[in-house]
Amino acid sequence: MADILYTTQKKCSVCDHEFNVTRVRNRLTMLKQDSDFCTYYGEINPNYYAVWVCPHCGYAAQDAYFEETPNSLQQIEDFLRDREVRVDFSGMRDWEQAVATYKLAIFFAEMAGTLPSRLGGLYLKLAWLYREAGKTEEEMVALDKARENYEGAFLRERMPVGNMTQLALEYLVGELFRRTGKLPEALNYLGKVVVNPQAKKEKRILELAREAWNTARAEKKQGSAEAGPENR
Ligand SMILES: [Zn+2]
Repeated sequence: MADILYTTQKKCSVCDHEFNVTRVRNRLTMLKQDSDFCTYYGEINPNYYAVWVCPHCGYAAQDAYFEETPNSLQQIEDFLRDREVRVDFSGMRDWEQAVATYKLAIFFAEMAGTLPSRLGGLYLKLAWLYREAGKTEEEMVALDKARENYEGAFLRERMPVGNMTQLALEYLVGELFRRTGKLPEALNYLGKVVVNPQAKKEKRILELAREAWNTARAEKKQGSAEAGPENR
């Protein structure tokens, strides 16, 4: 494990203090990926380490944009001022600590009015942690929040967002609707992807969307069969 994790120094974008962050080396063996892009690796779950938390002031954000000055910096500073912070998330993290870091990052992201796609990403990774622990109820709540924020990204952000094209994001929103049991909405989004002529250029997304669309249709049929003929 020691050679997978390493430590670097970062400067906090809120309080300007330096602190140690534990990072994961970029050479992991990928085992499999779920249909919502949750990826499993042999050595470690890198998502445990994707949120950095400043031990001096308590500010937390995802590694990719931790060093950006947050929107509403003033509000965050006001909130943190005079609060005694005792957090240390350096070194190896266990599942509980990983969950705690995501809750902190979500708290600050919401306070800072972060881009909806970033908030969506935090909720999605939190949902994956709940999936790992078999906590389905919590997973569904987090998936719902992820989907809500990703849908907001269509209105408020320029595509692509992060590494996701518009098409990939539409697929993901559809798949999150499906996973949370909202089948008409799932079919609406997934159907749009399947018939989009652009999808030919993104074969993997098209393939995933077709599969999810078929599954959602089957689930919907099964649902109406169980509900009885009068509800069809
Ligand atoms: Zn700080």
